[in-house]
Amino acid sequence: MPVPLTDLTRQHQAMMPQLREAFIEVAASGQLILGPYVREFEKEIAGYCGVKHAIGVSSGNDAIILALLALGIGEGDEVITTPLAYLHIAESIARVGATPVFADIDPRTYNLDVDHLPGRITAKTKAILPTHLFGLPAEMDAINSLAAEHGLKVIEDTDMAIGAKYNGKPVGGIGDVATMSFYPTKNLAALGDAGAVLTNDDDLAARLKTLRVHGIEPGFVVSQLGGAFRLDGLQAKLLSVKLPHLEEWTAKRREMAKRYHKLLEPLALTTPFEAESREHVFNQYVIRVRGEGREPLRMHLDAMGIGNRVYYPKPVHRLACFADLDYGPGSLPIAEKASQELLALPMFPEMTREEQDEVVGAVRDFFAGD
Ligand SMILES: *Cc1c(COP(=O)(O)O)cnc(C)c1O
Repeated sequence: MPVPLTDLTRQHQAMMPQLREAFIEVAASGQLILGPYVREFEKEIAGYCGVKHAIGVSSGNDAIILALLALGIGEGDEVITTPLAYLHIAESIARVGATPVFADIDPRTYNLDVDHLPGRITAKTKAILPTHLFGLPAEMDAINSLAAEHGLKVIEDTDMAIGAKYNGKPVGGIGDVATMSFYPTKNLAALGDAGAVLTNDDDLAARLKTLRVHGIEPGFVVSQLGGAFRLDGLQAKLLSVKLPHLEEWTAKRREMAKRYHKLLEPLALTTPFEAESREHVFNQYVIRVRGEGREPLRMHLDAMGIGNRVYYPKPVHRLACFADLDYGPGSLPIAEKASQELLALPMFPEMTREEQDEVVGAVRDFFAGD
């Protein structure tokens, strides 16, 4: 029996009447860009994350660009971030004219290793941009105190971690500003592109809203250029329909992860790190196969029709587009090794127990035949 890595159509089938109703309501209203549906969703998502302001935007990628612009980060500035993430973080930093500075990761959590941060801070550093990789919160206390000590901003990338808790507090309100994506692979998935920026800072929220629409202030005053980073009314409404289910979906992911841990732990692989102070929401369930085993395992799973994915095939500092930054092979060895050893297994709330058994069976077969 084949098992997909993820399958959003099951979620949509289960809630088709509400989705259809939402579509009809928005189409009939004509409120298509920003407007009341976006304001409503912004209120809901801010409440869910325990943050004062949410600004709905066009994607998680645009959320980062907007956050950087609103913080006044640009040419000549440096932003410290993780090399083990999707390309869009470093890309957004470069897009606003700043330089991404990569620090190595923690070999257990795969998040930024705070011990590697002080050595990366220079007179040009303006912010630290951690991501909560795969759904596990980064070490925010240590990052926040280091930032405070050096007068830096903290931008939390919460793309994979909506609903995750750090010392009991939801991610998104722990740094100065947070970015969020509702890309269809995320735990709260739009039916297309969508994102948000979150902050407790009133002035920053006002600037974010201005920059979301080209930087146009009342009286058509434009003092800083922004862009077209607006969220659609339809996506906002569809997200409002889905948000009340998120807690239940997250509970299912966590339950499934617990079962994976139990069934996979006896094998020669490493299951994801968890800690009581950091509640993982398992956007991805990522195992580690040390040495040379990841590629043969991947081929075995492919042959059996078991969905799997490499996060990430190359650490960002090794991409040709950042060759000018001079991070040679071995410059961030922990991230480089992780990119050769990590593999995501099927994980989505609607996955059945039988499907999970099928995945575990296929992984077991591989190690039994070793
Ligand atoms: C999260 C994620 C992104 C970034 O979010 P966007 O909303 O798409 O900008 C991009 N690609 C993938 C595959 C992602 O998982």
